Amino acid sequence: MIYFIGAGPGAVDLITVRGKKLLAEADLIIYAGSLVNAELLADAKPGCVIMNSAKMTLEEVIAAMVPAAQEGKTVVRLHTGDPSVYGAIREQIDLLRGYELDFEIVPGVSSFCAAAAVLETEYTLPSVSQSVIITRMEGRTPVPTRQKIADYAAHRATMVIFLSTGMLEKLSAELIKGGYKEHTPAAIVYKATWADEKVCLCTVGTLAETAAAQGITRNALICVGNFLGNEYARSELYNPTFSHGFREADPELLNLKPETKA
Ligand code: SAH
Repeated sequence: MIYFIGAGPGAVDLITVRGKKLLAEADLIIYAGSLVNAELLADAKPGCVIMNSAKMTLEEVIAAMVPAAQEGKTVVRLHTGDPSVYGAIREQIDLLRGYELDFEIVPGVSSFCAAAAVLETEYTLPSVSQSVIITRMEGRTPVPTRQKIADYAAHRATMVIFLSTGMLEKLSAELIKGGYKEHTPAAIVYKATWADEKVCLCTVGTLAETAAAQGITRNALICVGNFLGNEYARSELYNPTFSHGFREADPELLNLKPETKA
């Protein structure tokens, strides 16, 4: 059996319970060395073979997995964050299907969720943004037409930009070209939930200088939008004047205050 497991954003206790249990059962672990916390490997059982995929090709990864799985061993492919976000798992799965091997995907806490937690904020603020766009700048990996940063910036929704920390001048220019203002709030979250995490609040116009001042060149997310500002509407779900399937409206509850303890 082959398990694709999301390791979470960095902190060792942010892997799922299921992921942690399977790591402890694995006979072979192939982990994405660049951003998986190596402390997670301390759970591996004695005799488990551990490989770092940072220096491996897709073919080498598959060549390591297939014979182990065919021998009935438990194989874990450990990805950063959640495997579905820039995890390159589809190409692995398609090759494994050719060998008729069973696999399962165990989700993880993506770094974009960790970044919101670290920023102590909510991406989907009523009246500000009800959508989160997860995207990246075009680099050596091309981005399809109509999916460029400027196309998405036109929506003024919350944007979380992966894999782009080395291109911040260009990112700012694209965001502004699309319609964000120079003063639109932005944040750079470096290694969210790691011991050396850094969080920098800035604006769309100051992304590059902020990263340079902090020496951040990689391993960061860029969060953009007015969800980082201070204006929003309260939710209807928890509004006393609003009825829904679980609760009748009761406007008097607008005056409810906690009883404070002395
Ligand atoms: N599957 C991963 C993303 C892998 S792509 C996930 O769900 O998070 C690698 C990119 O993710 C990095 O270049 C960086 O932009 C981002 N990233 C991953 N972990 C991060 C973290 N802890 N803090 C900030 N950014 C992170």
